Amino acid sequence: MSRTVYVNGEYLPEEQATVSVFDRGFLFADGVYEVTSVLDGKLIDFDGHAKRLKRSLGELDMAEPISSEDLLGVHRELVRRNDLVHGMIYLQVTRGAATDRDFAYPSKDTKPTLILFTQSKPSLANNPMADTGMKVISIDDQRWGRRDIKTVQLLYPSMGKMMAKAAGCDDAWMVEDGAVTEGTSNNAYIVKDGKIITRHLGTEILHGITRAAVLRFAREAQMQVEERSFTIAEAQEADEAFITSASTFVMPVVEIDGEPVGDGVPGSVAKRLREIYLDESRKVAV
Ligand code: PMP
Repeated sequence: MSRTVYVNGEYLPEEQATVSVFDRGFLFADGVYEVTSVLDGKLIDFDGHAKRLKRSLGELDMAEPISSEDLLGVHRELVRRNDLVHGMIYLQVTRGAATDRDFAYPSKDTKPTLILFTQSKPSLANNPMADTGMKVISIDDQRWGRRDIKTVQLLYPSMGKMMAKAAGCDDAWMVEDGAVTEGTSNNAYIVKDGKIITRHLGTEILHGITRAAVLRFAREAQMQVEERSFTIAEAQEADEAFITSASTFVMPVVEIDGEPVGDGVPGSVAKRLREIYLDESRKVAV
């Protein structure tokens, strides 16, 4: 069945939804995005995603296409029109379509492009990978330096996923100056002697919305958290490893570059955090 998608104020069948060939998202990757999960027809952590979108737009001197309040309305309307129960909503804002291809930004009255669409994932919260855990490889981090801005320049992370696949693994952890930055589309964590260790915030990583929530829940549950960088060797020696993202929540990592982490099975801290995250986020979903 055809989805209903949103393009610049209109709800359209996906076959009829178009953007200009001059759109700067298409020509320059001059755009930002957000992915919000939907469980039982409700949005998980919408406020966090709306705030980060605002920040990404501000960092790139890009106009906000509509208010956060209206954005919530569009999300809800897409859930309703597509009968979405479990899945994700993808949102993208670009600097819009100038009349020509030019590296310089177009004039301020160029309208940003705003598109949203749904992706149904009935097993989103029951992903079998939560029971088996995932395997990752490490790769050199070759992305640009402003990874705190959630831009649509995702070619290197895509290449990283393909490298992981070619190695028979599920994802890649990127390494810069000897330390893990993050996964191709997630934040990376290790657990040692009960302490949860994840890289500190900065321009080197995306400030995950799930990361913020999970660390808050962990601290509330009196778990120890340390925000600092770590190496692949340290991760291989850790008791547990896991990742977080809006679409995987908390997902255990059981192997890094062919070495089992801990017992080589999902660890208890990751399992507990996954449960807490899903329970607490569902309670306040909108
Ligand atoms: N890091 C990167 C590079 C990502 O692409 C993502 C997911 N978009 C994350 C971290 C996780 O962020 P969030 O929890 O907000 O999905």
